[in-house]
Amino acid sequence: MNYRNLPMVPRVVFGNGSFDQLGDILLPQRKSSDAPMIFLVDDIFEGTQLISRIPLICNDQIIFISADEEPKTDQVDLLADRIRDHFNELPSGIVGIGGGTLLDLAKAVAIMLNNKGKSYQYQGWDLVRKPSIYHVGIPTISGTGAEVSRTTVLLGPEKKLGINSDYTTFNQVLLDPDLTKGVSKEQWFYTGMDCFIHCIESLNGTFLNAFSQSYGEKALELCKEVYLEELDPSDSRDKLMMASWHGGMSIAYSQVGVAHAMSYGLSYLLGVRHGIGNCLVFQHLEEFYPEGVAMFNIMKEKHQIALPTGICGALTENDFEIMINVALSLEPLWENALGKEWRKLISPEKLKSIYQKI
Ligand code: NAD
Ligand code: ZN
Repeated sequence: MNYRNLPMVPRVVFGNGSFDQLGDILLPQRKSSDAPMIFLVDDIFEGTQLISRIPLICNDQIIFISADEEPKTDQVDLLADRIRDHFNELPSGIVGIGGGTLLDLAKAVAIMLNNKGKSYQYQGWDLVRKPSIYHVGIPTISGTGAEVSRTTVLLGPEKKLGINSDYTTFNQVLLDPDLTKGVSKEQWFYTGMDCFIHCIESLNGTFLNAFSQSYGEKALELCKEVYLEELDPSDSRDKLMMASWHGGMSIAYSQVGVAHAMSYGLSYLLGVRHGIGNCLVFQHLEEFYPEGVAMFNIMKEKHQIALPTGICGALTENDFEIMINVALSLEPLWENALGKEWRKLISPEKLKSIYQKI
């Protein structure tokens, strides 16, 4: 047996208002006055007070980026080129401020600033050869676990797939639950359910081990508190941020499952975003995750979330085939969900029948 030797985030700060420590945290990482810190920030914060709290010095730069679409390999390459062209020296670091979209962009740009070629060439497992530059993740919405994971999920020319590598993981994470205050109820639910689904898929998977289980159970307990109990809003933000962290740690040493595989298909063909895509699929997976789906429905009712319908209504045979191929290509996810003999247990027709319900 060859056990995986996983990197973890070496430094993390947690607490309301901890964002104001960012200047002190970055200072020792600054290489020279010509090597700036680059802040990749969700453009939802443009013009808000948060921007004035970013500790800019010398030629540091803020780049605002929309999270309306999930990150793409072309976008990563353009950003890395733009930063390389604009400065004489490589930046001292990249700081991503936002949800999973901005966190993944920050990770990918930090890798590409120190590696040759195009980012799509690194989509897969352990293809990155050189360490990325110093990079920091600051989540402003909780659930994806992108702040702890060793992957950055990118939409490439041929596939939606992560750059999974030891160099992807952040060097520093800053968890300030106050930053999540402005998230809409719907987005809070969709991104939070990403965490809930990570737990269900990890805890019910064949790859489960005591390491994953310990994190998965804690994350699930926190999700239940947040989505089923009446918590004080500040307590709820704290707990969801830590649920996201533990959920991410849980899948680091196991895998996700059916909902994620099928959600990747939806996202690849239709651009459906990760959180809502997982919810759209998960609601129809009672056959695979009976208890999880029952709990999901209770949470959905409690928070009066109405998921869109008819998403796959007008799709052609070819469209279904594309989604099914993307989903089935994610072999480790199916093996985790259904075991080594998964091919005997699932078929393209079965997947089509689930997609048709969405
Ligand atoms: P997101 O970054 O896509 O943002 C969702 C929406 O919330 C956006 O409209 C954004 O502007 C808004 N938002 C974010 N913070 C806000 C705030 N404080 N106030 C108001 N609005 C705010 O959301 P997400 O669900 O966190 O991330 C999804 C992405 O994460 C996908 O691209 C997915 O592939 C990726 N992902 C990565 C991993 C990983 O391990 N790397 C894991 C899961 C998902
Ligand atoms: Zn996910």
